[in-house]
Amino acid sequence: MGSQLRVTCKHCRTVFKACDGGGFFFHLLHCQKCGTDMRVTQDEMGDAFGAEQEIRDAWVATNVPPCSCGGRFTFSAKARCPTCNADDWDASIVKLEMLYD
Ligand SMILES: [Zn+2]
Ligand SMILES: [Zn+2]
Repeated sequence: MGSQLRVTCKHCRTVFKACDGGGFFFHLLHCQKCGTDMRVTQDEMGDAFGAEQEIRDAWVATNVPPCSCGGRFTFSAKARCPTCNADDWDASIVKLEMLYD
């Protein structure tokens, strides 16, 4: 399970959707440059899935290919505004939707 947030960009007020968090079976990463999201599943990660943050970061650095924009996916990166590329947004209008796939 993850949640889909409806967020407002603090810079240009664009409203867009962002995925947040991960679930029992996957972690959600974002590209540091463009904010594209990418999932890594428990099957892919194996023991690293439930490991400490440093181990998970190391696993991602080794196993997850770079984004098509050239950026890297990390746990700490956030979704970005599709209009101005800011990662500074307000999730006060929150709509939780279950992700079923
Ligand atoms: Zn990217
Ligand atoms: Zn924006």
